[in-house]
Amino acid sequence: MSDLLEIKGIGKSMEAKLFHEGITSISELVETFPSRYESRRIQKLIEAKLQEEITLSGIAKSEASVYYIRRKLTKLTFEFGIDSTVFKVSIFNREFMKASISVGKELVITGKFINDFRNFTASDIVTKPKYIEGIVPIYRTDTMSSKQFHKLIMAALSLNKNRLSENLPLFLLERQELVNRVELFDFVHQPHDEKEVLSAQERVKYEELLNFALRIAALKKLNSRIVKKQKNYDIGKVRAFIDGLPFELTKDQKEATNEIFRDFKSKNPMNRLLQGDVGSGKTICAVIAALAVVTAGQQVAYMAPTEILAHQHFQTFCKYLSQIGVQIEYLSGSVIEKARKDIYSRLEQGNIDIIIGTHALIQEDLAFRDLGFIVIDEQHRFGVKQRQFLRKKGITPDVLFMSATPIPRTLAITLFGDLDISSIHTIPAGRKAVLTKIVGYDDLDSVFVKTIEEIQSGHQAYFTLPLIVESEASSLISVEEFLPLVREKLGRDIKIEMLHGKLNAKEKTEILEAFYKNEVNVLVATTVVEVGMNVPNATVMTVLNASRFGLSQLHQLRGRVGRDNVQAYCFYVVDDPLRDRGKLEVLERTVDGFEISETDLEQRGPGEVFGEEQTGIPKFRMANIVTDKELLEQALNDAKDVLAGHDELSIKLVNRTFALIDAYNLD
Ligand code: ADP
Ligand code: MG
Repeated sequence: MSDLLEIKGIGKSMEAKLFHEGITSISELVETFPSRYESRRIQKLIEAKLQEEITLSGIAKSEASVYYIRRKLTKLTFEFGIDSTVFKVSIFNREFMKASISVGKELVITGKFINDFRNFTASDIVTKPKYIEGIVPIYRTDTMSSKQFHKLIMAALSLNKNRLSENLPLFLLERQELVNRVELFDFVHQPHDEKEVLSAQERVKYEELLNFALRIAALKKLNSRIVKKQKNYDIGKVRAFIDGLPFELTKDQKEATNEIFRDFKSKNPMNRLLQGDVGSGKTICAVIAALAVVTAGQQVAYMAPTEILAHQHFQTFCKYLSQIGVQIEYLSGSVIEKARKDIYSRLEQGNIDIIIGTHALIQEDLAFRDLGFIVIDEQHRFGVKQRQFLRKKGITPDVLFMSATPIPRTLAITLFGDLDISSIHTIPAGRKAVLTKIVGYDDLDSVFVKTIEEIQSGHQAYFTLPLIVESEASSLISVEEFLPLVREKLGRDIKIEMLHGKLNAKEKTEILEAFYKNEVNVLVATTVVEVGMNVPNATVMTVLNASRFGLSQLHQLRGRVGRDNVQAYCFYVVDDPLRDRGKLEVLERTVDGFEISETDLEQRGPGEVFGEEQTGIPKFRMANIVTDKELLEQALNDAKDVLAGHDELSIKLVNRTFALIDAYNLD
């Protein structure tokens, strides 16, 4: 039974209207927040501009006349004066106001001077005493006016304030200096000033973030109840392998590896994100971890988003681990039936230690003997469902996600929920930062000069463009359009090939192999080079139409060069360096992926950066994970105290959080 009928002014028909608005109770009514606020004030005539809305106060200088223009359209007009200025005011469909407009009547009019200052077209006219200056909440409603809706809310609020009992623990209200729940609704629905609106918003944001933080804390607590077989890896073999590497692990690599090993030893399954820039050396961490699992007698699955990438990882793993007897296989959609059957059966018998592949790894009929460890590369490219599906192929396996779009901790927590996080900030010693320049098309010649220079000293180069063929609708330069220019500028001795998504698999492989062998010097390509290409000999990356890409993507593209210890170069070509530099400037200034992705998130928001498919992005009504990250950090800390709290409100909040998680897990 709805309690709405207790409100003065709400009967059966109004109840039905509210139902249409999605409101079935008093608490839902008062929790319907304005979509925006309008600041109402009477302005001065000298502020008036043609075509711009203004509110003016003055005196009617004539009676009103009504014209019938056509059915359902009437126009009411009268002379109106402010001090000594007189002009004509018109308003449509207000013939009923005729009686209330008389000479000398004080009125407030809102509207515009459209063509000149002698004729004012009003959208609203009220008598002076009825005009209330201040901040007016505007609600988005279908079945009634915002004003009517506001009236209902006011009636509901005055009914019984005790119903708006506090739901945040008092120690948090004090710690965060938040308004209490009664003040909150006053400030939301009838603020006296901007400050009240802001402090109401602050509390709403905090509450959203706290609920989110509680959910994460609760999930972690639940995860800690899932038990797995602890891994008894052979530390001697693992040490020997690390000692045999041609380089020493960086400090961050060591730390990440240690964290992974701690997870292996733990009785709870690993749920960890390993993030670091392209080339920061995540892969070797995964190799070491995989080896450890194999020495513990379990199997490893490594899933990458594209064939190129998966195959490259396969080669890397073979390079490091085949000689010490680890059995490694590659599986993708293009592996032929017979070979696939063979892989399936060897996997099930446990004759394959490590399987590396694409989505092919999540086929229904693929089974492992004992899958203990899953690595998911570029995890944001896979949906939650796919990740869960792979996880189900083992008995509570450890899972490591890898991301080359590193982001600051709080953002990572928001996006990836209950994951633990390891970050590699340090870049292997000796690596030189890619020298980066933002240039205009008129500077293209200097780019070609540098490219020729590098190729003459034995290196290779990429040109990246967003389109394959020229398009009527777009002013962007395409691969096909650009190719003749590159050929002309670089000359006959330099071997150039096109690479794009429209080529078939065989053509692509041939071109890639030729490029790997340096039989092709230059690739003119679409963003297919973004993931996967690992040709350490390439030293120049030029991105055309650079302002078309997001910062993270531009940074990823740059990551295709500078993979060796020689100096590499990156040119971002834009239409207008003066106009476009501001947006891209961070790329010239730094090669720190953490800083770049943070700027990217500020510029475009998480949906754009990670793709709408990333279902892990929480939707907040008011909070913004980029601009409110300090508040989130506080909420994450506070959530721990709530979880440990013994006061009534803390307990209530925690119970509700667990109940919501249960409901969510049912599907
Ligand atoms: P990521 O997977 O993070 O993009 P990779 O693991 O592919 O990076 O590493 C890039 C290159 O750096 C590889 O050729 C790798 O062998 C090398 N590398 C990794 N770690 C180190 C290190 N500590 N010192 C020197 N070179 C390293
Ligand atoms: Mg990698």
